[in-house]
Amino acid sequence: MIFRGFGVWVDERDISMDSDYKKELQSVLKQKTVSLPQVFIKGKYIGGADVIKSMFEVGELAKILDGFPKRQPGWTCRGCGDARFVPCWNCSGSRKVFDEDEESIKRCLECNENGLIRCPDCCP
Ligand SMILES: [Zn+2]
Ligand SMILES: [Zn+2]
Repeated sequence: MIFRGFGVWVDERDISMDSDYKKELQSVLKQKTVSLPQVFIKGKYIGGADVIKSMFEVGELAKILDGFPKRQPGWTCRGCGDARFVPCWNCSGSRKVFDEDEESIKRCLECNENGLIRCPDCCP
């Protein structure tokens, strides 16, 4: 909500959509259980909702976000409808591809465990 108010670009990573996000977060925070949300700004770990809220209240957040690229209000990605994921182009979301050389069904390497890939339009 706070970031939406600033209108800045937020890369929202839903860890339920991709277990790699969860693993990444666990390794960055060095914790097995992570409470959400966790906020990173320019790749630097900032903190959870409480930290962001207090930074917002003292005006610290506005300073940090000054000069950040702004997202057009009301903009919705045409590629994914803001889901940030699209079905894999390689396997159509089935997670299986036919290997013509070996004539066997292989696990698709392009997508995550849900047969999804990051939307190339908004999450390049
Ligand atoms: Zn795939
Ligand atoms: Zn998109």
